[in-house]
Parts: sequence; structure tokens; C-alpha cells
Amino acid sequence: TPCLYIVATPIGQFDDLSPRAVEILNSVDWIACEDTRHSGHLFAHHQIKTRTTAIHDHNERQRAQWLIEQLEQGKSCALVSDAGTPLISDPGYHLVKQVRAAGYKVSAIPGACAAIAALSASGLPSDRFSFEGFLPSKEKARLDKLAALAQDPRTLMFYESPRRVLNSLESLAQAFGGDREMVLARELTKTFETYLHGSIDDIIERVSNDPDQQKGEIVLLVRGYDSASKDELPADALATLALLQTELP
Ligand code: SAM
Repeated sequence: TPCLYIVATPIGQFDDLSPRAVEILNSVDWIACEDTRHSGHLFAHHQIKTRTTAIHDHNERQRAQWLIEQLEQGKSCALVSDAGTPLISDPGYHLVKQVRAAGYKVSAIPGACAAIAALSASGLPSDRFSFEGFLPSKEKARLDKLAALAQDPRTLMFYESPRRVLNSLESLAQAFGGDREMVLARELTKTFETYLHGSIDDIIERVSNDPDQQKGEIVLLVRGYDSASKDELPADALATLALLQTELP
């Protein structure tokens, strides 16, 4: 029966693609890629010769119809993004929703996801966590979002771009207090893989003093709010402070 496979791809190491993922990518009629040229390098490495088509943020809703027509004709398809698991800060949500609504089978072929990889090796509590995607680029929106998370007891995970990492770290310090424990996970599975562990203030200092730490791909993980901690201001005081900081000039 025709199926849409959601296939996770590596986040740095081409060989992190599972044998079953290779088998599925070889067996489907089409692979929908976020960027066909980008995925082409991975497919060449694994000698995957399946036809590709582009489905990205800007054409996803409209291309979903085309993909459903393929399934109607009995053809199976796979969706991949540039790296890691599709739909996780990547396109695919509208496609999966529409394909499911049309009554077709959707199956995940699991693999790398930067947030989960970072969490698993961070040393921060992993029993409860919240993935928050990318923080807003505008400071006011960023501080508002962080203020709403200031008392969240779960480990918080953010994706970040190297250009914005210092701004985001400063906002984290403002919203949560500079003493809060965090981990900056960079270039996972690649040559310059690094985990920086310390207080938010420590990490700001290390990242500002070493421009190399502002390069590549970054996941920020922040320990959740600990109401028993003596080091932190009371939660309501912190929330009020964070709100005030968004209003002050
Ligand atoms: N779908 C992907 C996943 O499952 O991880 C995430 C796609 S999102 C557009 C790209 C962001 O993921 C980067 O800005 C970075 O925050 C994070 N990321 C991807 N690869 C990474 C890596 N090798 N090391 C650290 N972070 C990574």
C-alpha cells in the first residue's frame, strides 16, 4: 500500500543514516526534499538514485496536493529535510496533516534530531523537557517568550543560529537570572563538536571571549526553574523583572 515515509537524515555525519532509511529511500517513487541539491550530496554518498522534488516552507500546502495524487496512483513517497528529523523546526507539518486527512498511511523512519542528541549528552535533567524551537529574533518578543518560560520546571531546549547566539544568551540571563545552569551544544557529530556547561553568565563570558564558539550549529539547553533553589529570586519576582525589562528603554 502507498505510504508517505518521514525519514530523518543525519545532522553532520553522512553515515548516521540507518540501513533501513537507505532501503526506504531507494524503494520509494519520489523523495520530497527541502532542498534537492543539499540532499543530493547525502544521496550520492549512499548511492540513492530515486527521483527528487522540492517541498519547502513556501510551496508545502500546494505541493501536498501533488503528493496526494502520487499516493492515489499507488506511488510511495519519502519526505526529508536538510538535516535531522522533518517537521522539527523544519517543513512537513501541513503535508503530513493533509496526507493523513486524505486517508493515506504516514510512517516515520526515525533517526537524528539535534535537540534530542544534545539533551541525551548534556547532563541536564531529561525526565521532562520542552523543545522551544528558535527564539524570536526581535528582543521584545524574545524576552516576552522567555518570561513565560521563567518558572517552567522542565529542561528547555532552543535551536540557535551562530549570528544570534550572544543576543539570545543575554536574553536568557535577563529572563532567568545569570546563575541558571545551562549547556551550549555545538556542531554535534561533526569535527568541532563542543559542549559548554556552566551558568548562563559563564557561557556568555566564554562565547564572547572565543569567536569560534559563535560558529556552526548550536542547541541551547537550560535547566528548568527550581523553586527550591536558594540561588534564584522567587519565581514571581523573576517574571516581573523579565516583564519590566521588556518595557524599559
Ligand atoms: N530538523 C532538524 C533536527 O531534527 O534537529 C533541525 C532543523 S533546524 C532548521 C536547524 C537547527 O538545528 C540549527 O540552527 C541548530 O540549532 C540545530 N542543529 C542542526 N544540526 C546540528 C548539529 N549538528 N549540532 C548542533 N545543532 C544542530
